[in-house]
Formats: sequence, structure tokens, C-alpha cells
Amino acid sequence: MKFLPILLFALQAACLTNPPPTSGEVYLCMGSWSYKYHLYKDCQGFNKCTTRVYSVTLKEAIKGNKRTLCSWCKKRSNK
Ligand SMILES: [Zn+2]
Repeated sequence: MKFLPILLFALQAACLTNPPPTSGEVYLCMGSWSYKYHLYKDCQGFNKCTTRVYSVTLKEAIKGNKRTLCSWCKKRSNK
């Protein structure tokens, strides 16, 4: 059993350095006024969106597009 913590640590490290492609995906509207990213593709924030909904990684949304989390999505994820 004494190797178990090491094994768990190794697995955790592998996850951090090589995340599955579907993890951390968020949704963006590319309208010129858009400054939020969304966790849910059917968020009411997209009701007024004039472009299609783009899915990007969370990192791209924050670093690349300077987005912040939509307040509706935030509330919804806290439920
Ligand atoms: Zn939203």
C-alpha cells in the first residue's frame, strides 16, 4: 500500500499535463459586443447572439479572447 500515494500523484500529474480534449470547453458568441464566455451552449446569454456559437477551450476564452464568466452560467453551475 505504500506505493499508492505515489501512483495517485503520478496519475494526477499526467492529467494536469495532458488533459482530455473535451475538458474545459466553453462557448463564445463572436459578436463585437461579446465579452463573456459560457459554460452552457443553451445559455440565455446566446439569445441575442448574432453569430454562431463557437466552442473553445477555457484557456483560449480567458487568455486569447479576454472573456469573463457569464453570470447566468455562473449561477447555473453553482446549483
Ligand atoms: Zn452564459
